[in-house]
Amino acid sequence: MFKALVVEKDDEGKTSASVKDIGLDDLPEGEVTVAVEYSTVNYKDGLCIGPGGGLVRSYPHVPGIDFAGTVEESSDDRYKAGDKVVLTGWRVGEAHWGGYAQKARVKADWLVPLPDGLDTRQAMAVGTAGFTAMLAVMALEDHGLSPDKGEVLVTGAAGGVGSVATAILANLGYEVAGVTGRPETESYLKDLGAARIVPREEINETVKRPLETETWAGCVDAVGGSMLARVLGQLKYGASVSAVGLAGGAGLPATVVPFLLRGVNLLGIDSVMQPYDNRVRAWKRIASDLPMDKLEAMVQPATLADLPQLGADILKGQVKGRVVVDVN
Ligand code: NDP
Repeated sequence: MFKALVVEKDDEGKTSASVKDIGLDDLPEGEVTVAVEYSTVNYKDGLCIGPGGGLVRSYPHVPGIDFAGTVEESSDDRYKAGDKVVLTGWRVGEAHWGGYAQKARVKADWLVPLPDGLDTRQAMAVGTAGFTAMLAVMALEDHGLSPDKGEVLVTGAAGGVGSVATAILANLGYEVAGVTGRPETESYLKDLGAARIVPREEINETVKRPLETETWAGCVDAVGGSMLARVLGQLKYGASVSAVGLAGGAGLPATVVPFLLRGVNLLGIDSVMQPYDNRVRAWKRIASDLPMDKLEAMVQPATLADLPQLGADILKGQVKGRVVVDVN
């Protein structure tokens, strides 16, 4: 038997999450059984620990959209007992049982070998949020961003995606401006490498003029909604924004004018179905471009028992940086 955070649904449709003992036979089918060491907490986890947000397929459910650990048993040639692995995405923790357990059983296709230079705890300090931040930075680079082009904006900067994006960009030599609604996080963001802080209210209003002063050479946007719409009108000629999240809303109250008159690009970033080769490329870049001391400064440790509270906190935008869950 081993421990897992199990979410159950009662006859009235109300969900509740608690730590329970479960057995290997309870795990779903899959080629690889992993002894999970660490997991983390993402916005989606908040939904899946709570009422589900339409993501969870059936109950009882074990959430946890990402994990890192050691292979215990594998019927797939690519993995053998003792291999260190990391998993993000593929709807694990939503449609499939996830990482909030001491063991997980998954498809071999979903795993990535842990890159040299990262241990399992660091991999989950990065987690889906950091992996996605790296994908967002890579997309900006692939569309021509370089440090000489000017200031790069990160929205939702004190959150998980934003914190890692800030640290990676600053480490690569970019001048980073971080948008936050939490002024108390200013010294945290500056320690991660942000050169200046933009208060959320300055950039959160509805678009009034489709084009504003050309300000940003690029942007990693975790917020969406009216903030993304404003950013589009503030991008420099030919610049791009990586659209990662919807912490501020799924709508996009924008005009097409910035696309037509400034040739700006809106780049969609999806971490869930990302092809294997690009996953490996992103994890290698994380190991080389994310300073580990900065990563450590973002970490808030937690256990399985802390998850119901942390799930509620992240849905309210109250989690700073990255939570690392030691499932053992
Ligand atoms: P966090 O909750 O850690 O961070 C989100 C941040 O957004 C908050 O910390 C806050 O930053 C800011 N924020 C929250 N609410 C609002 C609001 N109403 N208006 C403006 N800003 C707000 O979440 P993550 O960093 O883990 O994820 C960020 C987003 O990215 C989520 O929407 C998530 O679903 C999405 N995501 C998408 C992925 C993909 O594959 N595309 C993968 C991973 C995440 P601050 O306090 O600094 O203002």
